[in-house]
Amino acid sequence: MKRVYSTESVALAWHMRNVLEQHHIDAVVKNEQLFSIAGEMPITECLAEVWVKHNLDFRHAENIIREIEAGGEIEGEDWKCVRCGEQNVGNFAVCWNCQHSHDEERED
Ligand SMILES: [Zn+2]
Repeated sequence: MKRVYSTESVALAWHMRNVLEQHHIDAVVKNEQLFSIAGEMPITECLAEVWVKHNLDFRHAENIIREIEAGGEIEGEDWKCVRCGEQNVGNFAVCWNCQHSHDEERED
């Protein structure tokens, strides 16, 4: 288990978790229950956190979340890098792992 994201918004945490699930990454939201007693807790105790269950998914999850935070809707299908075999989200132009260009390999 590894924490990949934290936010003061439970809704946003769940959104991130759902997106990760769409990319076949097992993830859970933690700390959400603390919001019921928000106000009695230090704010740092009230953050909602997204954890990936498998550490191997961490870098992939981190990249997806970074992409979402950058304001991008995730468009297109996931694609698999022909060089290193890593999964990439649809709107990545280059592989997050090895920077290999996706467009070069597109077979249309
Ligand atoms: Zn690659």
